[in-house]
Amino acid sequence: MYPDVPHLSGAGCGLALLLELDAGETGDNLETIRLGSRGPSVELLQLALTRAGYNPGGIDGVFGPLTQAALIRYQRDYGLIPDGVAGPLIWARIRPYLVGYVRHTIVAGDTFWDLSNRFNTSVNAIATANPWADPQQLQIGQTLVIPLGFEVVPTNISYTSTLLSLVVEGLRMRYPFFETGSVGSSVLGRPLHYLAIGNGQTEVFYNASHHANEWITTPLLLKFLEEYAEAYAINGTIFNTRASELYSKAKLYVVPMVNPDGVDLVTGAISSGSPAYETARSLARNYPSIPFPSGWKANIQGVDLNLQYPAGWEIAREQKYAQGFNRPGPRDFVGTGPLTEPESLALYNFTLARKFALTLSYHTQGKVIYWRYLDYLPPRSLEIARRFSEVSGYPYEETPAYSGYAGYKDWFIQTFNKPGYTIEAGIGVSPLPLSQFDEIYADNVGILTLGIVLA
Ligand SMILES: [Zn+2]
Repeated sequence: MYPDVPHLSGAGCGLALLLELDAGETGDNLETIRLGSRGPSVELLQLALTRAGYNPGGIDGVFGPLTQAALIRYQRDYGLIPDGVAGPLIWARIRPYLVGYVRHTIVAGDTFWDLSNRFNTSVNAIATANPWADPQQLQIGQTLVIPLGFEVVPTNISYTSTLLSLVVEGLRMRYPFFETGSVGSSVLGRPLHYLAIGNGQTEVFYNASHHANEWITTPLLLKFLEEYAEAYAINGTIFNTRASELYSKAKLYVVPMVNPDGVDLVTGAISSGSPAYETARSLARNYPSIPFPSGWKANIQGVDLNLQYPAGWEIAREQKYAQGFNRPGPRDFVGTGPLTEPESLALYNFTLARKFALTLSYHTQGKVIYWRYLDYLPPRSLEIARRFSEVSGYPYEETPAYSGYAGYKDWFIQTFNKPGYTIEAGIGVSPLPLSQFDEIYADNVGILTLGIVLA
């Protein structure tokens, strides 16, 4: 099914694969882009070209001459019309570089070793992705998932709901022990993805991107999941902890993007001129001092999803109204009642249906751990906050009175009397730049690991 795979001379760490179109998986709805285009789709193309071994001149979301030249080289190498335009055919061709795997139909003589060399991956990665396959008895005509030789979670490009869907698919295919699904849908119908890993009795829950312009927390959780899965697959460690120990300790559930519509607005996937963008812009005009769209925290209807939970919601409303946040807008509007928004309601229902022993809600910014709600003191919540503080360098603090109500953490603590935390990662003005990602990850990988160990 696959022709011989050419290796580009000098492409070193890059990959050069001739890939079959898989018509069943081209429904990503990516726009056609060309010289002069801008935005997250351009970043996706630049990421794919980079992973394929073609240098687009960096990943900056601007389709300039270097990106065009890289695309034309790619098109020439694969016998496509070298027009430098990325339309549906190109998106389908480069998709494996976004999901991080290809399918390969076994032919006579194939071995895992041979395939790992041909696709620049490892025998272990192939074995992990195909737990049913017996490498001693490969059956001609059966289809293998071949993970490509790079990590699937990018940490150098803007996140969008489309990128999240691609990454979730990639993680699931490369590590079939992930459970994936959705906890509901956003206002605009985007899936609220979850991933779960582990088989312990205890259940733990991490979520990120309640707030649109805090989307850097999404790759934070995804990267942790990938590192954890990689470590588990090779019987290795993460943050000096055996992944197999984490796996048998607890089942970890992660919702990496609670607010996909809002994230898409902030990162440009919902672009100027579209109805959703223009509606949001008109809501933002009520708050002219907040930059648009970069200051947008709310969901696409202008409701702050972390002021939606039934824990002191009326007090939150009073406080926020007094501050002038009395109608839909970029931030701090509590809505017309608790849980009016599908995203918050989905998390609420998901939480009620399980027995989480501990939750982490990731936000930016401030480098601080909030661990309390009013006078509730769930057993061990202070002790665990101290441990989190030790491994991250983030201090643990009382929640400031002006934002002390109606958040997910507040509701979780009040309802279940279990430890729940809001982590404000990184420092600066949200959206934090991706240049801060590595530091944020290094600061938080200990918390993410200990959250499972200590739950
Ligand atoms: Zn936040």
